[in-house]
Amino acid sequence: MMSRTMTDAPIPRRVDGKKLVDINQQLTGIIDSAKLTRLAAATTHVYTPVQCHVEFFRDPERFLILSGDCSVKVGMECQRCLNEVQADIRSEFELGLVLNDEQAKKLPRRLEPIELSEEGRLELWEAIEDEILLCLPDFPMHGDGECTAFNANPEKDNSAEELKRPNPFEVLAQLKQK
Ligand SMILES: [Zn+2]
Repeated sequence: MMSRTMTDAPIPRRVDGKKLVDINQQLTGIIDSAKLTRLAAATTHVYTPVQCHVEFFRDPERFLILSGDCSVKVGMECQRCLNEVQADIRSEFELGLVLNDEQAKKLPRRLEPIELSEEGRLELWEAIEDEILLCLPDFPMHGDGECTAFNANPEKDNSAEELKRPNPFEVLAQLKQK
């Protein structure tokens, strides 16, 4: 029997951001994706819990940092055939924890600000959900050969797709298949 791993531990919904920075806390675990309603609304299905690893620390410039990476498997509507396409979403982020706009303005560009409550509380689920939403593809699509629209009539679809599709790599891939 497999032992329960650390990654099964639930990630807390909200945390004391300042305190976790002070003790250099690392958290590894999962968020029940059924609780993330915005992610549910942006996808057709969420297949896995969100796997997370986050770390709180103070960087050499004394900024309060939340860095981490998260992954989740979702289904979205293929923009070509309108059937579901599954995607493994992975997000890596480094955020600067701030108490107000003043502090946010002082952050270096590489750090995206995230505001704590007056008491230093951080809505951790919300922050992670935001990062995942940012990583969802704007134009989810099956790969060539997996998309029913593509298989049904490749010649006709190609000419139509090339006109409206913004991704040049996809177009190249299709041209090669001709
Ligand atoms: Zn498709």
